[in-house]
Amino acid sequence: MHTAISAGVGPATLQDDKAPFAFAIAYIGIGANLGDARANVLDALERLQRQPGCTLMTASGLYRTAPIDSSGDDYINAVARIATKLDAEALLQALHAIEQAHGRERPYRNAPRTLDLDLLLYGDAIINSTTLTVPHPRMTERAFVLVPLLEIAPSIHIPGHGPAAQYAAGVADQGIRPI
Ligand code: ADP
Ligand code: MG
Repeated sequence: MHTAISAGVGPATLQDDKAPFAFAIAYIGIGANLGDARANVLDALERLQRQPGCTLMTASGLYRTAPIDSSGDDYINAVARIATKLDAEALLQALHAIEQAHGRERPYRNAPRTLDLDLLLYGDAIINSTTLTVPHPRMTERAFVLVPLLEIAPSIHIPGHGPAAQYAAGVADQGIRPI
C-alpha cells in the first residue's frame, strides 16, 4: 500500500512544533457540457483555488471535445495541478461539493453534466476503495484527459501504467482542439 501522501512532500517545515507540513500534488480532470460549459470550467478552477487546503498551481488551456460514451453538446475540458493538504477521500468530497454547487445531477450513467471533476492522480498513490479509484481508471483512454495533462506535465508518470505520454498515440483519433 502506498502512503496516502507521498509525491510532493515538502521540506520539513515545522508548524507549531508539531507535525511536519506535508502536501500532495494532485491532478484534477474538469469537464462540462451543459449550460455555459466554458464558464463552468473556469469557475471550477477558481473554486479549486479558493478551496481550503488546496492551492491551484497550474491550469491547462481549455479544450473542446466531442462526447464519448455520452450525449449532448461538445465538452469543454481542462486539467488542473493542485497542491493539497487534504487526503484523497477528503479531496474527492471537495470535488463533489464543487460539482453540487453547479447543480450536478446524475440522472443516468454518462449523462450530460454541468460540471464533472475527476481525481486523476494523487501523488504516486494507488487507491482502490469503494468510493475512489486512483489513478482514474479511464484516464489512459481519453484524449480529453491526456492532452491537457500532457500540456502541463509532459513527463508525468501514471502509477502502475508508466509515462502518460506513451498513451497519446492511442487517443490520437479522438477529436480535441484547443479553444
Ligand atoms: P464519471 O466521472 O466516471 O463519468 P461520475 O462523476 O458520476 O462519473 O462519478 C461516479 C463515481 O465515481 C463518484 O461517485 C465517485 O465516488 C467515483 N469515483 C471513483 N474514483 C474516482 C476518481 N478518481 N475521481 C472521481 N470520482 C471517482
Ligand atoms: Mg466524475
